[in-house]
Amino acid sequence: MPLILPEFNLARLNTLASPVTAWAYTSVASREEVAEAIGYAKEYKLPVLPLGGGSNLVLAANLNALVVHLNLRGIELVDESDSEVWVRAQAGENWHEFVQYCLNMGWYGLENLSLIPGSVGAAPIQNIGAYGVELESVFAELSAIELSSQLAVTFTRDSCGFAYRDSVFKNRLKDQYIICDVTFKLQKTPQLVLGYPALAERLADIPETEITPQQVSAAVTAIRREKLPDPAQTPNAGSFFKNPMVPQAQFAALQQQYPDIVGYPDSASGQVKLAAGWLIDRAGFKGATRKSAAVHKDQALVLTNPGKQSARYVLELAREISATVNELYGVALEIEPRVYPSDDSAAAP
Ligand SMILES: Cc1cc2nc3c(=O)[nH]c(=O)nc-3n(C[C@H](O)[C@H](O)[C@H](O)COP(=O)(O)OP(=O)(O)OC[C@H]3O[C@@H](n4cnc5c(N)ncnc54)[C@H](O)[C@@H]3O)c2cc1C
Repeated sequence: MPLILPEFNLARLNTLASPVTAWAYTSVASREEVAEAIGYAKEYKLPVLPLGGGSNLVLAANLNALVVHLNLRGIELVDESDSEVWVRAQAGENWHEFVQYCLNMGWYGLENLSLIPGSVGAAPIQNIGAYGVELESVFAELSAIELSSQLAVTFTRDSCGFAYRDSVFKNRLKDQYIICDVTFKLQKTPQLVLGYPALAERLADIPETEITPQQVSAAVTAIRREKLPDPAQTPNAGSFFKNPMVPQAQFAALQQQYPDIVGYPDSASGQVKLAAGWLIDRAGFKGATRKSAAVHKDQALVLTNPGKQSARYVLELAREISATVNELYGVALEIEPRVYPSDDSAAAP
């Protein structure tokens, strides 16, 4: 049985540095310990909150839950063909270290996702994406334990329902599974994705046929370091809002009023994906502060908690931003990270 620690302060385990206390905390390092932790929560009728790197969480108040910190480790090659490899990583592996490991092994496809904070196990939850690549393009399958039955279940790509920053684990199957490992299908020969403007610009000096996956990873890492605040210095949870999708007609109408509005056609939905950062910036919030919360001075999409106070002040600021953006542009913003506690949060096993 893993050690159960009561009254546990989570300040150092979430990148917003919110100082909330959980009813209890346990660190699990094997599937057996995951099952035992679920059994313990069941016995005490406690909801379970799975925790990875805490980089996509807004902990707004103390939690009446058992926090199960996924620390399962290991990376293995499970199969290969002439051109592809199937690589399985345990949920507790650090995402960026896993990306670097694969690059060093000559397994390609993850390079654009370099330096995204967090764990392998959380990556499918919101189908992490950056610089023109989303997790679903390299995903093979995952194995999870169902909280209610404590049975292991395998999810294929189709059964994960991946979409933009979304999967079944954020909606239909929310809070019902703990992901234990994820298997990726990677390439032995690089198939680089270089279309993202900032990335293309950064690599412009190298002839396209000579660019390596390692150079792509280094470029993405450098851009991210320049652009995004390091949570260790300035507590934050990355992009606080999703980029909203609007029908083309609404985009055309907005363009009439705001000729420099930023939007990209989304081929999957036929809609236009608006840059939420532009909307927030133009609404006058860049650099704004309210109590202990702030909007980053360079990145309007990133809300910060410089005073390491309760994340409820960050949420108050987020609500003010949403209301103003809706009033100005008629566009609803959706919060990207997971907010706890919420009415339907933390699953009862
Ligand atoms: C500076 C910064 C930059 C970021 N940039 C990006 C980006 O470019 N693209 C992007 O997509 N995201 C980005 N993010 C968001 C974040 O890094 C990802 O969502 C990441 O996958 C979260 O991993 P985590 O381990 O920290 O998850 P956590 O924050 O620990 O958990 C997130 C959610 O997943 C659940 N969960 C965690 N692990 C498991 C598991 N094993 N099984 C079941 N449920 C689980 C938690 O209960 C919670 O609901 C960024 C965040 C920060 C702070």
